[in-house]
Amino acid sequence: MATSTARRLDGVAVSPAALQAAIDRLPRIRLGHLPTPLEPCPRLTSALRGSEIFVKRDDCTGLAFGGNKVRQHEFLFAAAREAGADTVVLGAGTQSNWCRQASAAAAKLGLKVALVLVHGVKGPVLQGNLLLDRVMGADVTIVPGTDLEVLPEHLEAKAAELRARGRKPYVFGWADLKTQATAAVGYVNAVVELHAQLAALGRSADAIYVAGFDVTPAGLLFGVRALGLKTRVVAINPLRTSVDRRTEIAGICGGIADLLGIDFGVRPADVTTTDDYIGEAYGLLTDAAREAILLAGRTEGLILDPVYTSKAMSGLVDHIRKGELRNGETVVFIHTGGTPALFAYAEDLELGLSDPDR
Ligand SMILES: *Cc1c(COP(=O)(O)O)cnc(C)c1O
Repeated sequence: MATSTARRLDGVAVSPAALQAAIDRLPRIRLGHLPTPLEPCPRLTSALRGSEIFVKRDDCTGLAFGGNKVRQHEFLFAAAREAGADTVVLGAGTQSNWCRQASAAAAKLGLKVALVLVHGVKGPVLQGNLLLDRVMGADVTIVPGTDLEVLPEHLEAKAAELRARGRKPYVFGWADLKTQATAAVGYVNAVVELHAQLAALGRSADAIYVAGFDVTPAGLLFGVRALGLKTRVVAINPLRTSVDRRTEIAGICGGIADLLGIDFGVRPADVTTTDDYIGEAYGLLTDAAREAILLAGRTEGLILDPVYTSKAMSGLVDHIRKGELRNGETVVFIHTGGTPALFAYAEDLELGLSDPDR
């Protein structure tokens, strides 16, 4: 994908209508229940006594319990279909939400799906996302270890094996810019959607908080900045890596600009992402994340997941307590889903059948 050098970096690049039109020119298969609700959270807001919290319910996007990957798959599956594929090949950990939502999309579209899943912290327990993958008929290959960097090689091998059997596989690459930028357009679209929902309430967001690694924050940040909004996009990163996330996210934004034909760039310095809430490792619950799951559940009946949204909410709670978000500011927490994994983490929640002190 060609990346031009001198792009516009500030100001207003497009109107919401022009941004929507650019998105609508790309191949897309409607899969999600969109727009997702934007819900006020008055009881959570008053429990934290800080900024006013709204939740964008992207855990309600449909497709086998929903999540942020549904928006991404609308564009990825369209690319697979344009390529004439009969099978999509992708991979991640055994409790991957990305793979579970792909299994659902494939089933719905009459495609086959081949998953390569590394053990990860939970291993091959037939619970949560892995159980759902099997329910939806995914062909699952499990590889040992926790290192996701081995995936590109396994995905290519799987695709070669399928080709040899006369199938037409399409690989959703791991850490591949074309896949990432195509997927991220789903979150540019989410910004246009959110902007309209807030406008209908006569409001705007001072900040967006999201559990994000790269694709989701890139789409949100590109959308917010290209529209010239003042909203701060804060990504709470779930996974420590050696790659600099700011550079990577800015790079995906370049890919989005090329796909949409919009002359606008994002600098690494424009990206806000933090590793502060990961704790020991990806996929291991922290005390603050456990507290966030109970807080959201008990104030709003809102279920967070153990790997992403609980850590993101622990970051939001901490930022409110530290005064990084001011009273009276409006913050939108994007609930990126992942809730089926909670059932694979029942023991980590350390809950008995009742709370003696309540
Ligand atoms: C995948 C995932 C994320 C991170 O999304 P990226 O697009 O990789 O940034 C966040 N939350 C949940 C629940 C996810 O499944």
